[in-house]
Amino acid sequence: MRALSYRGPSHVAVEDKPDPRIEHPQDAILKVTCAAICGSDLHLLHGLVPDTRIGSTFGHEIVGIVEEVGEHAAGVERGDRLMVPFNISCGGCYYCQRGLTACCENTNPSSDVACGVFGYSHTTGGYDGGQAEYVRVPFADVGPMIIPEDLDEDDVLLLTDVLPTGYQAAEMTGLREGQTVAVFGCGPVGLAAARSAWLLGAGRVIAIDRVGARLRFAERWAAAETVDLRAEPDPVPVLKELTGGRGPDACIDAVGLEASGSALQTLLGRKLKLAPGSAVALSWAIHAVRKGGTVSIVGVYGPPANLVPIGVAMNKGLTLRMAQVNVKRYLPKLLEHVRQGRLDARGLVTHRFPLEHAPRAYETFDRKEDGCVKAVLLPRG
Ligand code: NAD
Ligand code: ZN
Ligand code: ZN
Repeated sequence: MRALSYRGPSHVAVEDKPDPRIEHPQDAILKVTCAAICGSDLHLLHGLVPDTRIGSTFGHEIVGIVEEVGEHAAGVERGDRLMVPFNISCGGCYYCQRGLTACCENTNPSSDVACGVFGYSHTTGGYDGGQAEYVRVPFADVGPMIIPEDLDEDDVLLLTDVLPTGYQAAEMTGLREGQTVAVFGCGPVGLAAARSAWLLGAGRVIAIDRVGARLRFAERWAAAETVDLRAEPDPVPVLKELTGGRGPDACIDAVGLEASGSALQTLLGRKLKLAPGSAVALSWAIHAVRKGGTVSIVGVYGPPANLVPIGVAMNKGLTLRMAQVNVKRYLPKLLEHVRQGRLDARGLVTHRFPLEHAPRAYETFDRKEDGCVKAVLLPRG
């Protein structure tokens, strides 16, 4: 089959690879029809995720058609259209039983931190991802859902990751009716968080980024007020001023370890690699939020300690919530929101590329060129 292949930092190619095979009775082989590129894939691309091996295939936002099924994948049949959550979960362990599918302890047993994830290095199990013609889906009868007949792939593709991630980010703020939420990052995750905040009763939503087209997108698609970091390099006083001096009730970090905006953090965390990335959006969130407020973190960070102002958070009495998102738990509810038009997954997709053009797709999404918010790869052309 043809598949994306990691060739080392900032370099991906499309190559021939062996077709995946059923390895376990609960596997299915999926013929991939769409696979999106996530902001998390950029951390892999930039060589920031440990044990990302040459030749591995990325891609954890996947929909497709079942080609082959293991003998114990109950309820999954050849020809079914499936959407596949990015976390691989067994359904039976302590965590899965409690809805914490992102904490599954069986799909990446060598780690006490992360569960199995498609195409996300050997630190999350070494599973190949779906930016390919075919992908092996473990526990195909547990995580994936059959796409309802009245919805098409574009409606549900982003329910496999960024929409639930944005939704859980907004939910974790615990916001009350009428409160103000600031969202750092206007990538797909931040945009989904901003839109979800309205759904959960926010009275004001303020989005922060440095990419003009994305700020305009946030105003149009998520009805957010915006703060442009090109004009306001330190957004903390701006957010205070916009909120009567106190700060927003909640801040969401939808940026993660590649945040820009602090020369020190960029030097230590991204150039010299003395710290695991740059936690500047998180630092701003902690400084900007009002005392007693909540900071909700879905931007990705590696496990080692980071330069985070924990003493500020402690003294301000903040609530910190964070997660790799439990996609499966949100699917039924978010499907209904999409069906009723309250959430819009397809509207985030700005670019589509044949799989063969994956290097250009990565470059466009990485550089945020041409107004790119979300890029999708199409293995069938
Ligand atoms: P993205 O790269 O498309 O967007 C990130 C945005 O942040 C960019 O528009 C960038 O200009 C902006 N930015 C950079 N520095 C900033 C700063 N200091 N303040 C405000 N904005 C800043 O990525 P995405 O797909 O939207 O993903 C966002 C983050 O969420 C990534 O870290 C990704 O790995 C993570 N993620 C987490 C989960 C989860 O389960 N927790 C799921 C999906 C993605
Ligand atoms: Zn992702
Ligand atoms: Zn489990």
